[in-house]
Amino acid sequence: MQKHVYIETYGCQMNEHDSERMLRLLERIFYSETKEAKEADLILINTCSVREKPEHKVYSALGRFKKLKEERGTIIGVAGCVAQQEGERLLGRMPYLDMVIGTQAIPVLPDLVQKVEALGQRVCEIGLDAEGEYLKTPLAERPSVKVKSYVTIMQGCDRFCSFCIVPYLRGRERSRPSHEIIEEVRDLAEMGVKEVCLLGQNVNGYGKGIGGELRFPQLLHRINEVNGIERIRFTTSHPADLSEELIQAFSNLPKLCEHIHLPFQSGSNRILKAMHRGYTKESYLDKIDCLKGVCPSIALTADVIVGFPGEEEEDFKQTLDLMERIQFDDLYSFKYSARKGTRAAQFEDRVEEKVKQERLSILQEIQKEITFKENRKLEGRLEEVLIEGQSKQSDRDVTGRTRSNKIVNFGGSLGLVGKMVTIKVLKAYPHSLRGEIQSFEFGLPPQ
Ligand code: SAM
Ligand code: SF4
Repeated sequence: MQKHVYIETYGCQMNEHDSERMLRLLERIFYSETKEAKEADLILINTCSVREKPEHKVYSALGRFKKLKEERGTIIGVAGCVAQQEGERLLGRMPYLDMVIGTQAIPVLPDLVQKVEALGQRVCEIGLDAEGEYLKTPLAERPSVKVKSYVTIMQGCDRFCSFCIVPYLRGRERSRPSHEIIEEVRDLAEMGVKEVCLLGQNVNGYGKGIGGELRFPQLLHRINEVNGIERIRFTTSHPADLSEELIQAFSNLPKLCEHIHLPFQSGSNRILKAMHRGYTKESYLDKIDCLKGVCPSIALTADVIVGFPGEEEEDFKQTLDLMERIQFDDLYSFKYSARKGTRAAQFEDRVEEKVKQERLSILQEIQKEITFKENRKLEGRLEEVLIEGQSKQSDRDVTGRTRSNKIVNFGGSLGLVGKMVTIKVLKAYPHSLRGEIQSFEFGLPPQ
């Protein structure tokens, strides 16, 4: 009998990708996805605990689903970072919770669900998987995303930035064998996927310490050769490990899109040191210069944290100065949030919440202007766009992204999804562009 699973996902692309994997695995035990929690036989909350706010959201989501458990006996599970962090404690705290699925336990999810179904047993699986079993769960069985797909190339992180909980919850860096990655990309291409985004917390570390394995730039070269794949992206890249060879890839590899997400976190050398980031403001600026040297049109995005312990007005000014100098296309900005178990959580000179909020607002206001200005530069320009689906704004519009990763909406039918078209940008908005089709990849579209 067909059953339904509802998944709520918090956090980054890694989590979105893990949710996709969970759906694929659950299909094996006859679950299909529903977008309505009230129709579900199984509810999974895929959580994030990188900051405090998303972590709180998880507890309020659990509260919402409690009623469904009482009325319909829905099985409820928590996966992801909060599951990994809290383990059995979550079962103790939430009597209506059935499953705790750690960050490496995705391959055994069907077994866990069957155990709950058959035995009514509450289960918790949070062992960190040393054999790399997690990485062997390919997505290419039947991707629901037809045009673009994430491909995990590595798990975990060895960098231990002082604010970050990821290395503790996702384990040490483990690279997936390159032949498996390339095989998965080939399979995806055969299914019609045109764009792949390679995922890892620090993709520059790919292949590190594995004799005979490709390094990240070489992996990109191999993926560039896969027929059918037309665009390659990757995230995330750590500035300290951004190699000359990877920078050169932006000029050598035609399929590598002109965009890099390179989190800088702070513009103050004092704070960067306390964050244990391994670079300075000057060396970050140098790397950006090199990137622009090999690829002048490259779009730049980054993450930044305000209110790290000890951050003074002067440090914050350095962050604003870095932003002004680089003129990022977009920024993901966060207030520092202390995470138990990290080194920075023990630092004493905390910044007041009010000050953090003020700094965040100032920074976001400045970035809003810069993003809008960068978007306006594209007005009147011709851009290659891969059409991804219907626009959220109108049934008569479709949406896609430029190679620089900007969202463009324009008139068109769903029959165009998956086509690469040339768009003339008519108008820029703060977060998207409006355009019109200038030419089609394969002649005129079906009427
Ligand atoms: N691996 C990526 C890197 O190093 O760039 C980032 C991974 S992390 C999940 C995404 C972003 O969350 C970070 O770049 C950082 O800006 C932010 N972040 C991580 N820990 C944080 C914390 N304790 N407080 C506030 N922001 C945090
Ligand atoms: Fe966290 Fe730093 Fe690793 Fe990124 S590189 S996941 S911020 S420890």
